[in-house]
Amino acid sequence: MDHDAYLERLGATTDEPADLFEHFEQRSFDGRTYHVLTDARHGLERGTVIVEDAETVIRGYPSIPRLLVLEPGVPSFFEDAETVAVEEKLDGFNVRIADVGEPLAFTRSGYVCPYTTARARKLLSLEGFFDEHPEKTLCAELIGPETPYTTTDYEGVDTHDFRVFGVRDRESGNPLSVVDRRAICETYDFNQPRLFGRAPPDTAAAELVRDAIDELDAAGREGVVMKSEPGDAMVKYTTEAQHHDELAYAFSLPFDHGRDFVFSRLIREAFQAAEFDEDEARLQERAHDLGESILVPMVEAIQDVDDGETIGHRHTVRGDADSIDALFDHLHDQSMTIELESDRREDGQRVVEFVKVAESSRDRIAHYLEGGTR
Ligand code: ATP
Repeated sequence: MDHDAYLERLGATTDEPADLFEHFEQRSFDGRTYHVLTDARHGLERGTVIVEDAETVIRGYPSIPRLLVLEPGVPSFFEDAETVAVEEKLDGFNVRIADVGEPLAFTRSGYVCPYTTARARKLLSLEGFFDEHPEKTLCAELIGPETPYTTTDYEGVDTHDFRVFGVRDRESGNPLSVVDRRAICETYDFNQPRLFGRAPPDTAAAELVRDAIDELDAAGREGVVMKSEPGDAMVKYTTEAQHHDELAYAFSLPFDHGRDFVFSRLIREAFQAAEFDEDEARLQERAHDLGESILVPMVEAIQDVDDGETIGHRHTVRGDADSIDALFDHLHDQSMTIELESDRREDGQRVVEFVKVAESSRDRIAHYLEGGTR
């Protein structure tokens, strides 16, 4: 690889190629080699990819900062924007789809996911899009109850589907504006996250975001991403329902999820309660729900291990047999322990139910149940 040439194309903030390229890892997919930046550094996002045989650079998807309070968070974050567009934040799996001679779906950390690649080719009209926009990347969320990564239900999505929330120049990472992206996606019939509306930064929180959050919370959905127009600034804010779901998810496997994961959700919840919960009764209700989302899944996990059941995250996937085989190779490559629960054919497709076994939680819980000490 010509490091000097790629250093320039990437626009990294170092003049020393070695500073950057020692952090690229070589990977392969279907006999093709690509290089992935494993951590954000020198102004580049984690998951930035170079596909050498296609001489292509695909910048990583940027990290979206989070607000803990809407007032004065929204007006101060969007100080320089004319308008703030408020879109739903969906709970799924982020992929960047780029055409490197063939369309490939890259995960946030820069792996080609064979399953998501196959599904994207099937469900999105990629040929038409990349014929017209070969230099772009589609940033999409794979959502629905049947994916290998998340299981959140969305009305109207029986198994899985994509929602395109960004169209970016693959090499510079520059995004299209929300207006332009929404128009292009409509042209190609790409589904997108719901747009709640637009408002000036000073009034967006009170006029749009609070109502959107209330509505999403009542429906058990995740939250919103606010995007500046013009510009590329983005910030996220999530619902109480999401905080509780994520805590329940983490505590259902208490020794597999990091303490940071749990602590950050508690902090989000505390700031939201301080801003939203004016009366004591509302705060008590939140405290009760929060406690339930921590304790109940943990007790269930202990009981499951006691009953000899496998604990872990359960997923169902459906698709053609080859892409499902490739998915399991991909998951094994990532050192996951997978247990198959069922493998059948339905409507000409292979449908597999499996568990990503949570070995740390299983072993620690078993140790304590046998009378072991901490
Ligand atoms: P970070 O963004 O800080 O790296 P993270 O990976 O935990 O953290 P999330 O908290 O899940 O990210 O939020 C960012 C992700 O939200 C994006 O990467 C994208 O996959 C997803 N997302 C869902 N809906 C949207 C949307 N409408 N606009 C932008 N991103 C969205």
